[in-house]
Amino acid sequence: MFNFNPSHKQAFKQGEVALVGAGPGDPDLLTLQAFRFIKQAEVVIYDRLVSEEIMALLPDNCEKMYVGKMQADHRVPQDGINQLLVDQARLNKKVLRLKGGDPFVFGRGGEEAQFLLAHQVACHIVPGMTAASACTAYVGIPLTHRNISQSCTFITGHLQSQKEGAVNTRLPWHILADPKQTVVFYMGVKNLPTIINEIIATGRSANTPAALIYKGTQKDQQVYKGALAELNDLVIQHNIKPPTLIVIGEVVNVFDEHSLKNIGYLAV
Ligand code: SAH
Repeated sequence: MFNFNPSHKQAFKQGEVALVGAGPGDPDLLTLQAFRFIKQAEVVIYDRLVSEEIMALLPDNCEKMYVGKMQADHRVPQDGINQLLVDQARLNKKVLRLKGGDPFVFGRGGEEAQFLLAHQVACHIVPGMTAASACTAYVGIPLTHRNISQSCTFITGHLQSQKEGAVNTRLPWHILADPKQTVVFYMGVKNLPTIINEIIATGRSANTPAALIYKGTQKDQQVYKGALAELNDLVIQHNIKPPTLIVIGEVVNVFDEHSLKNIGYLAV
């Protein structure tokens, strides 16, 4: 059924949407395909996570619409974003939906694509480098490492619950217990105390190495390492805000901090 030639690239046509992953911030991490769509955009609908350097690549005459979200204050609700994409496409423009990281990894790209198709709007899907992959690489943390970590879980730290502060029992905490598994939390800073408690409750050691990566791959990237049980103290001490990635597992210590001489550069 999905039998097509991958070398045949669809052109970006008027009245279509391109759902493009912009990666974690460093424009060098854009794919060539993302770059090609960015350069053709007539209107861009973008998120808070898209870096200024990437926005600077848009054509001068491209109209810019910000629909970024803060955790509590959803600036434009998801329904509104979906409808905006359809409305802009119906104005017969080339609509660029630009998202941080990969559109299909905690990016609601799937929901947007479903809505577009249900409204007869064609949609290009352009993957981006997801934060877990790029941010760890740039600070010298291998997501898997022979004999140290054989699996890796990407998980949301955005705990939905009826009552503020209640634990989302739907998150599969029990699968995070394996000491040879790397766990990467997206959107986890706000709920970090709960996350730490729940993981330690699975039996994972409170001494498990962990890292916080703030604005990974960007000029103002910050990285802090500590034991799992100490992570929240680091957040308070350094006043760490989103966007921050939380990485838990022995892989955090494969390279020592002194080797990281610059973003994405390990030196002897
Ligand atoms: N679609 C995105 C994820 C969106 S969810 C992707 O694939 O990367 C938003 C969360 O992603 C943030 O709260 C943070 O945990 C993480 N994130 C995205 N970009 C980041 C960056 N440059 N540095 C650190 N964390 C980042």
